[in-house]
Amino acid sequence: MTDDDLRLFDGHNDTLLDLADETGSGRSFFDRSDEGHLDLPRAREANLGGGFFAVFVPNDDYEYERRETEEGYEMDLPPAVSHERAESFTNDALARLHRIAADSDGAVRVVGEYDALEATLLDSDALAAVPHLEGAEAVAPDLSNLDFLYAAGVRSIGPVWSRPNAFGHGVRSEYPGTPDTGPGLTAAGRDLVRACNDRGILVDLAHATAAGFEEVADRSADPLVVSHAGVHEVCPVSRNLTDRQLDAIAASGGLLGVTFARGHLRPDGDNDPDAPTPISTLVDHVEYVADRVGVEHVALGSDFDGATVIESVGDATGLPAVIRALRDRGFGDDEVRAIARDNWLRVIRETWE
Ligand code: ZN
Repeated sequence: MTDDDLRLFDGHNDTLLDLADETGSGRSFFDRSDEGHLDLPRAREANLGGGFFAVFVPNDDYEYERRETEEGYEMDLPPAVSHERAESFTNDALARLHRIAADSDGAVRVVGEYDALEATLLDSDALAAVPHLEGAEAVAPDLSNLDFLYAAGVRSIGPVWSRPNAFGHGVRSEYPGTPDTGPGLTAAGRDLVRACNDRGILVDLAHATAAGFEEVADRSADPLVVSHAGVHEVCPVSRNLTDRQLDAIAASGGLLGVTFARGHLRPDGDNDPDAPTPISTLVDHVEYVADRVGVEHVALGSDFDGATVIESVGDATGLPAVIRALRDRGFGDDEVRAIARDNWLRVIRETWE
């Protein structure tokens, strides 16, 4: 097969936020833009067939402060956001995605069943959008609206982003640093993981602390998934996965979606703003996972519209260059297909069905 036939699946984007006036540029998903990273024309050009579309609730009026340390930097966790605000923000964002699908003439499908996802990726030229909650603040602590969110299409939930909420504690950002930055899940968080398992909602461990990761690993019946992060041995930032975590992911049949974020890819932690980052740096993370635990446990998780993406990729139209870089590194046809799509399909099938 040629790369032109390979429809890709991406584990994480924050495009829904960039489309809103309040949190982004307010651009249309249907118009090709020079702003942000992803829209329908750019997805088509890149042969992107689907991905998780995150809903992330930003803090109001919060200034992120990156403090320099002797060897790198550290950042405080932002304060919690209220469930009420998160719920209305999330409902608006989910409504935006459904409106996009309704206005798209079939070009965008909100997909929540495995067969529909596979058919969209393999037998259509439509884009499959799977709603994801990046941080579960919109879920009521007693889980009373979880079925409503499921009905609205949510098929993946990260219990925490990098701040505390009713379900647990997220990982603080520091370089160098390890994911062991604080406590893990609360009792409500443990209930949420069980409820997600029961309903076939994927539990995403991006932004989890080491303790939170362990608790889910001990409890979850499903493959362990981290939708967007890197490898700690390549870039020792606190958000990246240690060897122990990679081994746990592999033992569960799960995967790591390798991020395209500069600060989580560059071995120097992105301390030189002018330094170029070649795609080979991204491939170093993919190769590390493949060599350590097997190519079936690594995939893509760009963080388009949510991070500073390495300039050698640029935006969604850089995806074909990532695929070429994987081939240049020596990954064969089946391996490239696994990384670019099939590993995500396997894990989603096992989780949703
Ligand atoms: Zn994130």
